[in-house]
Amino acid sequence: MRLLLTSLVAVCLSACATSSAPSAEQVRAEGGELIAPGIVLFPGRFEPGRQPDGNSIVIHGRDGLVVFDTGRHREHTQRLLDHARTSGLPVTAIINSHWHLDHSSGNRMLREAYPDAVVLGSRAVEGALTGFLADNHKQAQDLIDKGVIREPQLSDVRGDMAIVEERVSLIPNRMIDASTDQDLAGRRVKIGLSANAATEGDVWLFDPATRVLLAGDLVTLPVPLLDTACPSGWRDALATLDGIGFATLVPGHGEPMDRASFVQYRTAFNHLLTCAAGSAAANTCIDGWLADAGTRVPASQHEQARRLLDYYIGQVLRAPPERRDRYCPR
Ligand SMILES: [Zn+2]
Repeated sequence: MRLLLTSLVAVCLSACATSSAPSAEQVRAEGGELIAPGIVLFPGRFEPGRQPDGNSIVIHGRDGLVVFDTGRHREHTQRLLDHARTSGLPVTAIINSHWHLDHSSGNRMLREAYPDAVVLGSRAVEGALTGFLADNHKQAQDLIDKGVIREPQLSDVRGDMAIVEERVSLIPNRMIDASTDQDLAGRRVKIGLSANAATEGDVWLFDPATRVLLAGDLVTLPVPLLDTACPSGWRDALATLDGIGFATLVPGHGEPMDRASFVQYRTAFNHLLTCAAGSAAANTCIDGWLADAGTRVPASQHEQARRLLDYYIGQVLRAPPERRDRYCPR
């Protein structure tokens, strides 16, 4: 009897921690994908001509839900809210992998619905609100005044401007200053911080129970998005991720990867930086990226990947050092 009780407790400890875990069918009907027990991916859209949404991930804990990245567009964030409502559990923690608006604009809707949720993120957002985001807001207003931006982009841009003006929903109430273990919604997870990588502070999450790593924009497809990056710091951050014992990695944009796919991505990233630092034509570096990345970047995304990389090689990787390294530590 004692043995039976002990084993029942053991079963409960493993199963009850994810007792709210949804089924794959239920999640699919909501537009999501069950990637591990109790971990649901809501893929972000990344379509030419529109501003993207980053991937969002909902983690089911014993006493609530953890939302990792909140998207940009209302439709994307609404799927997260609908999922929470169906699950019957409150959102108790929101994590922003970084301050880019495709990962954090949805904070506003989620915080309105769950005002008690703790919001975790890096301090980099404070500098962004007076720097990059403020500059972008001004440029956007100028372009709107000149009538240059048209629908459907106009709605996206106006949405971004409204979030920057409101600003408070973007600011975490629990700052991540270093990598730590945390109990979130009754689940023990590792929260990591990589400084000066895709942004000045990139937050990632590793769930040891499922060996799922949520990487935010430290891994993005179809190409690395280098707008606010310190390229050399990003390369170092990928080495750090490589040292984590994950089985599945969820990138900020694109489909989940196994370890072999991540190693392929990391190799492609390092080759891209080396190629851009040399004298080869930009097109040679772009061809190299597509060859290295292989099926990670399907043929249907080659045109978009080429256009993005052509821009990033010219405007970031081969820009004068003061511009290329402006997001690196001084
Ligand atoms: Zn992003």
